[in-house]
Amino acid sequence: MGDILITEALTRRYGSLVAVDRLDLRVAPGERRAVIGPNGAGKTTLLDLVAGAIRPSRGRIRFDGQDISGYGPARRARLGIGRIHQRPAVWPSLTTLDNVAVAAARRRGGVGRSRRPAIELLDRLGLAEHAGVEAARLSHGQRRQLEIAMALAGEPRLLLLDEPAAGLSAVEFERLGAVLRDLPEGMTVLLVEHRLDLVYAFADVVTVLRDGQYVATGTPDEIRVSHVVRQAYSGAV
Ligand code: ATP
Repeated sequence: MGDILITEALTRRYGSLVAVDRLDLRVAPGERRAVIGPNGAGKTTLLDLVAGAIRPSRGRIRFDGQDISGYGPARRARLGIGRIHQRPAVWPSLTTLDNVAVAAARRRGGVGRSRRPAIELLDRLGLAEHAGVEAARLSHGQRRQLEIAMALAGEPRLLLLDEPAAGLSAVEFERLGAVLRDLPEGMTVLLVEHRLDLVYAFADVVTVLRDGQYVATGTPDEIRVSHVVRQAYSGAV
């Protein structure tokens, strides 16, 4: 089977700054890929490019054999690319349950039919007791879990996770680890995360970026001991 996600010389510039610089990535179906690197490495920009929130300055993105470089975010979502953002994006005036039901409706054809799976998802994410609460009233960590539930409700084939552990309590962090471990086997995941303990526990393959540039790709064991990676983080490259 071919790679589900391929970037070819993917580049994004902001004026003279090159946020993502000629990046070639290949991610296999079902792979758990983490992308790490110091602040400003281009990790969020990469996820934005794959999700279609921003357009490349140069280069291409292929998803499941199709060149999606020119597609908008809604079309990419319909193809099966789901995401959670660095700052959780939920509908604040809807209840927790309705947020998930609406997110699921796209797949299931109607909010009514989406309620039961939505309740199951909330249960898994520890939000069941908040099902009837307006999302605006949830804590940051709860909103983060809710956004993950919403992304999963869409049953994406490729899930883009931007710093899911940021701002979580210790209990929420544990639960996140369990949720990530239990993701459906066929789901491909691109995880951007600063918590390297989570990255190394979760990922099959880790890619390291620095200043928009590719540094290395390897298994968690390889990356953990890599000299090049340590240099990238220390700024000594
Ligand atoms: P962090 O770990 O801090 O979230 P990151 O690896 O996700 O960092 P990006 O947010 O992708 O890095 O940013 C990469 C570079 O692009 C940074 O230098 C950032 O300042 C710049 N950048 C990102 N978005 C914009 C923008 N909209 N306008 C100008 N520069 C931007």
